[in-house]
Amino acid sequence: MSVRWLIALCLTACGVAAAAEPAGSIPAAGPTSRVLRAGDSILNIEVVDPPTAARSRELQDWAAEAAGAALAAFGRFPLPTATVRIEQRDSRDSSPVPWGQTLRRDGVSVLLFPRPNAGLQELRGDWTAVHEISHLFHPYLGSDGRWLAEGLASYYQNVLRARVGLMTQADAWKALDAGFGRGRREDSGLPLDELSRRHRGTMRVYWAGAAFWLEADLALRRGGSSLDAVLSRYSQCCLRGTGESDPRDFIAELDRVGGDGVFGRLYERYADSREFPSLDGAYRTLGIEAGPEGLTFSPQAGEARLRRAIMGTRPARETGTP
Ligand SMILES: [Zn+2]
Repeated sequence: MSVRWLIALCLTACGVAAAAEPAGSIPAAGPTSRVLRAGDSILNIEVVDPPTAARSRELQDWAAEAAGAALAAFGRFPLPTATVRIEQRDSRDSSPVPWGQTLRRDGVSVLLFPRPNAGLQELRGDWTAVHEISHLFHPYLGSDGRWLAEGLASYYQNVLRARVGLMTQADAWKALDAGFGRGRREDSGLPLDELSRRHRGTMRVYWAGAAFWLEADLALRRGGSSLDAVLSRYSQCCLRGTGESDPRDFIAELDRVGGDGVFGRLYERYADSREFPSLDGAYRTLGIEAGPEGLTFSPQAGEARLRRAIMGTRPARETGTP
């Protein structure tokens, strides 16, 4: 599935911008950038100082596949234009991608810093690229809204990778559940928005945040909508790549474009919560049971359908032409 996504992207949407190479020069490392188009949205992929043409292509393929996962939300990139910049960097961290971040200056850039010796399969198995690209779905929300921002990226990094086959649906639920477990172990008793503001309690900030978006998604689906649908409308009417939005304004906009009060009600419950929220109701709705042997999934048709609606693989999608 993931390969089909990548092929669909490249057949319909990729242009490769290669720098002109002077005759007789030492072969350059090859084209360093690629342009992905989906509808009227563009995502540029740039590789900084690639050592070889083959490695440049490999890194572009990795980022293009992660970008394809982002299209599994609503078929467009959230912003009209953004750039993913990849720069290899040595690190003592054994992770394939020890560092990534989103920059919002003149334009919006996702920066990814993979280890030079991380192979394509290792990179494909890593969550960082999809997490960072998922930050494009929301505006910059400042320190107060860090829990909303990191929560959305942490929720979507699993949902979107499952949808394009970069991980199985069961593994995506397990990864979310493991994250919720890490969040639950943070027991400072401080309100979530205070942890967020003070850059403390990282695990609760990220995973209580992810729980917020899961609960919102379930509530919206009960009413026949979904988080994808609301974020799609928000990206068309209101999303700005640069500048800062107040978290409460963001939540109010989401409710205005289709949330119908779901986001505001959850926000009031979550923002000043002093412990990890109970997800018992959400797990019952999804037919997921957490036991000593790990997660079990109910075979009941409605519950299985709901789980598939969130995590199920999507057919390859035409990404549109320029
Ligand atoms: Zn993040």
